[in-house]
Amino acid sequence: MNNIKIMDEILSNKIAAGEVVEKCVSVVKELVENSIDAGSKKIKIELLESGVKEIKVVDDGKGMDYEDASLAFQRHATSKIYDEEDLYRIHSLGFRGEALPSIASISNVVMKTSTGDIGTEINIKGGKEVYKKKCEARKGTIIIINDLFYNTPARLKHLSSLYSELANVVEFVNKIALSYPSISFTLLNDNKVIFNTDGSNNQLKVINKIYGLEISKKMIEINGSNDDYEINGYICYPEITKSNRNHIITLVNNRVVKNIELNRVINDCYHTYKPEDRYPIVVINIYVDPTLIDVNIHPTKQDIKFSKMDQLKEIIISSIEEGLSSIRLIPKVENREVEKATLYEEIRMDFGSVNEEVEEENIDVSSDKLPELYPVGVVRGTYIVCQNDMGMYLIDQHAAKERVNYEYYKKVIGKSNDVTSMLFPINIELPYNEYIIVKENINIFESLGFTVEDFGQNTLIFRSHPIWLPIGNEEEAIKKILDLIVVKEKEFNIDRFNERIAITLSCKMSIKANENISFKEMESLIQQLNSCSNPYTCPHGRPTVIFYSYYEIEKLFKRVV
Ligand code: ZN
Ligand code: ZN
Repeated sequence: MNNIKIMDEILSNKIAAGEVVEKCVSVVKELVENSIDAGSKKIKIELLESGVKEIKVVDDGKGMDYEDASLAFQRHATSKIYDEEDLYRIHSLGFRGEALPSIASISNVVMKTSTGDIGTEINIKGGKEVYKKKCEARKGTIIIINDLFYNTPARLKHLSSLYSELANVVEFVNKIALSYPSISFTLLNDNKVIFNTDGSNNQLKVINKIYGLEISKKMIEINGSNDDYEINGYICYPEITKSNRNHIITLVNNRVVKNIELNRVINDCYHTYKPEDRYPIVVINIYVDPTLIDVNIHPTKQDIKFSKMDQLKEIIISSIEEGLSSIRLIPKVENREVEKATLYEEIRMDFGSVNEEVEEENIDVSSDKLPELYPVGVVRGTYIVCQNDMGMYLIDQHAAKERVNYEYYKKVIGKSNDVTSMLFPINIELPYNEYIIVKENINIFESLGFTVEDFGQNTLIFRSHPIWLPIGNEEEAIKKILDLIVVKEKEFNIDRFNERIAITLSCKMSIKANENISFKEMESLIQQLNSCSNPYTCPHGRPTVIFYSYYEIEKLFKRVV
């Protein structure tokens, strides 16, 4: 190659680098995925200053011979180095075979690689080979990338803070470790280990490493299959939620994909088990015939299209619902100070004992009904104190009644056609803008069983209503429904709308806090709650019952240690 040609190549590599290498994590991702392709069982990622100063990846994969070591840094050399069988990846990453030359064009790279015989050491700086020589090396590849972006100062500015560069790398390594639990990953920054997995092919162990013991103890194993899909994975107890959706992780044939629709389906399974602005931790492995998926829709965004989406949703929903109903969901109050730290460390080191812990926990949580509860009294006119031979329970009477009402309204709203005529029709006057919206949507009222007339002058007359409308609060309930119609979302969906009415009315019709109720009423409330399909949370996802075991109480009083 003459000089001009080389310059051309370096230039086009730099341009490509600008497109694909925006952050340290892009480089880490490329190197780690190469290591996985090389069949590595152990992959170690060492960063200096979050990777801005140095990124080093050490693997024990098949390595490269003297000739291939140079080819790795030339564009379009893909087929010589990688097997073409992994077409999926080529699509999903979009720049396969061009990334390494691109990275080398904007940094100083040293690679040491060996297939088991004599090793090769090669140095490329700014895209140019500085030296290449034979050396001693064990089987595998070590790549060290220094001074990333050194010759593209503009891009260096785009790098965010060291902290967020590191956060991106950690997130990537977490996810790749979930994808490949049989590979041991170690991540270091400035010589400190920040994440490592043991490669024992146990996904729950990886979850434990990412989220810690407290959370991994509260993961429920799920699985299911139908003609087209097989799924398995772990879903969290509803009490463990996060403030964003990033912890809903779906893997398709062992690769992380992001599919908005799937995420929504998974999140919806937790509906009324958790507050709406909180999101579960879920790791689901989906196995499917590759011909049923299309990975071309987003070359770099990891998205994917399923040709039998409904079948997939079905199996996911039923598996999660089964998982959630398999546990008793009463939050347990624990004495947090006691030995937590040491216990935590110990078990992190020896995961064997975690499994025992999880099982122990499951013994008293294996029913889908509340235990027998005997009311003792009411605290603050709000919390019913109950007991049984396991411990003490507090029931939030508003939340409990709300759950009972909610399940009732869910059954009748939009389903029962029974109607009551009103002796005195209710006239409701609205602001003009709202009046127009409601008039447009008057069919919603009709489908619910109301008889409504437009009286003109911004006024509607309600002459009859469905029997489930709370007696004595008809007007208020109608106004609530009017409000919901006025603010209804763009994508109107009658089921979601009825659901909203059910939640709104169930709150409205609940006993308020600071309202003292009799023993009889307490008993009947508990009984009603117990007949609910999910007695553990109100429709807003807040707990109805909290449990204090006698053991925890005795620990608090230092009667036991
Ligand atoms: Zn409420
Ligand atoms: Zn509520």
